[in-house]
Amino acid sequence: MNKPLIVITGASSGFGAEIAKIFNQAGYPELLLGRRVEKIQALPLNFENVMIESVDVTDQAQFKTAIEHAEAKFGPVDLLVNNAGVMLLGNVTTQSPTEWQTMLDTNVMGVLNGTQIILPSMLEREHGTIINMSSLAGKKTFVNHAAYVASKFGVHRLSETIREEVSGKNVRISMVAPGAAETELLTHVTDQNALVDYGEWKKSMGGITMDPKHVAESVKFIYDMPQAVNIRELAIAATRQD
Ligand code: NDP
Repeated sequence: MNKPLIVITGASSGFGAEIAKIFNQAGYPELLLGRRVEKIQALPLNFENVMIESVDVTDQAQFKTAIEHAEAKFGPVDLLVNNAGVMLLGNVTTQSPTEWQTMLDTNVMGVLNGTQIILPSMLEREHGTIINMSSLAGKKTFVNHAAYVASKFGVHRLSETIREEVSGKNVRISMVAPGAAETELLTHVTDQNALVDYGEWKKSMGGITMDPKHVAESVKFIYDMPQAVNIRELAIAATRQD
């Protein structure tokens, strides 16, 4: 039987790229989204059943059109991984509100946009899964992370709210809450002091962070459970992380 379509946002680097690889190796058709499509095109994938679209998750119309294209080719989406996100560290007294807005728009609105596009069809079919990439920063606070923490607490609580709304229709809403991992996430931080603090914090744990592939494995683990079982949240971090 043909495997169903999987959509991954933020597939151009970090966790998203690893999630794309793991489902590609398992033979799923994929719609891979990101603004830097050339980075997705350069991933080591079998591109036979892969569609790539340049999508900014804050633009719901663009996001919807990409999904319609992929569904016309591969059939309905069975898994949406709302993974795209940004973490712009900064102290609240000095950080630009533009950076707060970017985090709230991408991390919260991006997840809501994808969810609103996908859910009606899943509810009608009474089948489907949405996995939102939250963070340990959706469960606890970290200094210099005020707006990021606000966005990820938002992802945690909106995921749980929507789960309660749709569980009766056999649709799973889940989230992964990773700790620190080596990706491109920190490369967008403009506040040098916040970066130094982050480096010190990592050093205090022996500098140990996770390999992003373990986060991808946790997404696959959630999806591979029977449809009747929903892992509501999976928190995963390096053993030495505090
Ligand atoms: P990366 O910076 O490596 O990847 C982020 C991805 O998000 C990129 O593919 C980027 O693609 C995409 N993205 C960012 N903004 C947008 C946008 N507006 N529209 C579409 N895509 C966008 O970081 P990670 O892989 O680490 O981050 C993935 C998720 O994991 C994020 O939600 C992050 O908050 C979360 N996370 C990360 C942790 C870590 O330590 N790395 C820990 C806990 C959670 P492009 O620029 O091509 O559009």
